[in-house]
Amino acid sequence: MKIKTIKVIDGKNKWSESKDKLIHMVLDLGVYENKPSNKIEGFYERIKEHLPSLQSHRCSEGKIGGFFKRIKEGTWMGHIIEHVALELQTLAGMDTGWGRTRGVKGQKGVYNVVFNYEDKDKGKLAAREAFNVVNDIIDNKNPQIDNIVKKLKTNLRENIRRILKEELLTESVSLPIKLSGSYQAPKGDGDALHSFDRRKSDHFGGYMLTGGPIPSNFSSKVKLDQGKGINQVLVELAKKGIKPDVKSISIRVNSDYTVEWEAVIDESTDGKAYVGVASRGSAGGGADSRAQGQLSGLKSKNPKFCNWTPVLDLNISKPIKIRQYFLKYTMCNPKELPNDIKVGGSSSSGGASSSKEKEFKSWEPGEYKIKGDEQWTYKLTKDKEWEAKLNNGSYTSLKSALSDSNYEMALGFLKLAKKL
Ligand SMILES: [Zn+2]
Repeated sequence: MKIKTIKVIDGKNKWSESKDKLIHMVLDLGVYENKPSNKIEGFYERIKEHLPSLQSHRCSEGKIGGFFKRIKEGTWMGHIIEHVALELQTLAGMDTGWGRTRGVKGQKGVYNVVFNYEDKDKGKLAAREAFNVVNDIIDNKNPQIDNIVKKLKTNLRENIRRILKEELLTESVSLPIKLSGSYQAPKGDGDALHSFDRRKSDHFGGYMLTGGPIPSNFSSKVKLDQGKGINQVLVELAKKGIKPDVKSISIRVNSDYTVEWEAVIDESTDGKAYVGVASRGSAGGGADSRAQGQLSGLKSKNPKFCNWTPVLDLNISKPIKIRQYFLKYTMCNPKELPNDIKVGGSSSSGGASSSKEKEFKSWEPGEYKIKGDEQWTYKLTKDKEWEAKLNNGSYTSLKSALSDSNYEMALGFLKLAKKL
C-alpha cells in the first residue's frame, strides 16, 4: 500500500459543495485491494483498541458505532484511512469531520481519499500519520496515537503562545513612535482649517487625536500616515503596560488650506501615563480670548482626567488667525483608561470587520479556553470582542494587541475555544 500524492485544496472543488478546505490523497492499496478489513485477522479488534473514539463516527450507517460496524463487515483501507485522518485531527482539537473515499476510474486499487482540515499543514500531516497508523494496525504493531496527536496539537498551541507572547508583551513595541498626517480644508472655511481632530457639524477634520476610521466622504482629503491617531496609540501603549507620553506635536497650516501635523510618542519619564490629548481653540478675530475661555471648561467637563499639561500652543496669523491649545492628560485613577476612545482595529482600510469576526456573532459572551492551552484564558465580551489574559493577569483586547494578520490568525484559533 502506498501514498501516490497528497494535495491541499482551498477553494471550490468537485468533492464537496460546502467544504473548501480539503486534503486530497491518492492511495494505491496494492494487495489490500483484495483484502478489505474483514479479511485481516484481528483488524477490527485492534483498531477499536487503539482508536476507541472512532465509536462516534456514524459513517453511512448514520448512527453511533456505524463506522466500526462497516469495519467489522468489511471496508477498504482508503475509507479507513479517511476516518483515521479525521479522528486524529479531532483528537488534536481541530474541528473537522467530513470525508469521502472513491475509486479512481480505470485504475484498479487506486482511491481518492478526501477529508477536510482546519490547518493545511496539519491536514497533510494527519494524512501521512493516518496511513502509518492503519499500516501499524494491519501489521499488529502499536501505533503511537498519543505522540501523533501531540505532534498535531503542539504547533497549534505553540503558534498561539508565540503570537500572543510576541505581540502582547512589551518588547515588540519600538519607541519612540512618530505619527503624522495631513488634511485639506475647503478654501476659506476657517472652522474646518482648525478642525485638527474633527468638528461636530459634519465630522470633517484631521483625526489627529481620535484617529480613523475616516468617513469615506473625507477619505481623499484626510490622511493618517500610520492609520492611527495620537490618542489611539497612547491607549494602546498603556494597555501593554507602558506609561506613554506625547513628547511633541508640531503643526503646519499652509496658505492653500492644507494642514500637516506630526507627533512624537515615547515612554514617560515623569512616572505618569499620559493617555490622551485634548485640544481647544478658535479662529478669526478674538480667537485668543475665545480659546482661553474654552480651556477653562475643558478641565471641569472632564473630571476623570488629571495632570493637564500643555504640549502645544499654536498661535498663527496666516492664512487666518488661529489660536489652539493642545493639552495632554492622565487618568485621575491610573487603573482606568479613557473609554470614549476607539482603540485598535482601525487600520487605514477603515476597520471593516473581518468575515472571521462575524463567525462569533452567535457565540455567548464569557470566558473560553482552548484545549491544550493551559496558559491563556480568553473572553468574549458582550460586544463580541475577544480579550485574552495570561494566568492571573488582566484581560487585554486582542484586536488592539495583535497586528491585523496575527489577529486574523488568532480568530482562526479561537474557533476551537470552548466556554468555561
Ligand atoms: Zn465512512
